[in-house]
Amino acid sequence: MTDFIAIDGPAGSGKSSVSKAVARQLGFGYLDTGSAYRALAWHVLDQGADTADADAVLAAASAFPVELGLDPDDRTVRVGAVDVTDAIREPRVSGAVSGVARVPAVRDQVNRLFRTLVADAPYPAVVVEGRDITTVVAPDAPVRILLTAAPEVRAARRAGELAGENAAAVAEALHRRDASDSAVVDFLNAADGVEVVDSTDLDFPQTIDAVLTVIQRRRGVHNG
Ligand code: C5P
Repeated sequence: MTDFIAIDGPAGSGKSSVSKAVARQLGFGYLDTGSAYRALAWHVLDQGADTADADAVLAAASAFPVELGLDPDDRTVRVGAVDVTDAIREPRVSGAVSGVARVPAVRDQVNRLFRTLVADAPYPAVVVEGRDITTVVAPDAPVRILLTAAPEVRAARRAGELAGENAAAVAEALHRRDASDSAVVDFLNAADGVEVVDSTDLDFPQTIDAVLTVIQRRRGVHNG
């Protein structure tokens, strides 16, 4: 059985880059669940459907030919024959994704996809990263981590990633997305048994080390 290493956290907490680096170091797979929701939002927009219309979103989700790899060094995402790797990062998709991710039946369907991808993975474990992974998708995972950081630190990191964009606009978009996402999933507070890694005062290598320490400890407990 492939183990789930479940990592939750809000936008700008560093969860994508940290999860990817951790998977690479340990020789594990990496699943960025946000990219599945982004690809679905792209697909809904591509079909000319309204991302605020739950029925239209559900209809698009029921025929969603997404291809998501688990190799931490190959982040290619395809929908059917279309390579959407870059398109799913565009602001028009970021702006639409919360609406798509809000539909419970859509979440059920996407969560089934995640469980299947992990169960069939050619890795001993997969680092699965996203906002409800520790609570809904894999509440029994041997390792569950909530990666957090203070809101102003998260906004500054996001602005750094999106070089050239106005810092205040980035902070505002991030807070808006937090507010809209947290109405659906509580990703700011750790559930029972979930370990918190707060990266507010940690740099990137220190955050990776903190996460690796938790994984080693928890997998030791689990296997022993
Ligand atoms: O992590 P990322 O910022 O790429 O996620 C994009 C969006 O996908 C989030 O803002 C959220 O609306 C949705 N999402 C989700 N559940 C997840 C991962 C992402 O609802 N597990």
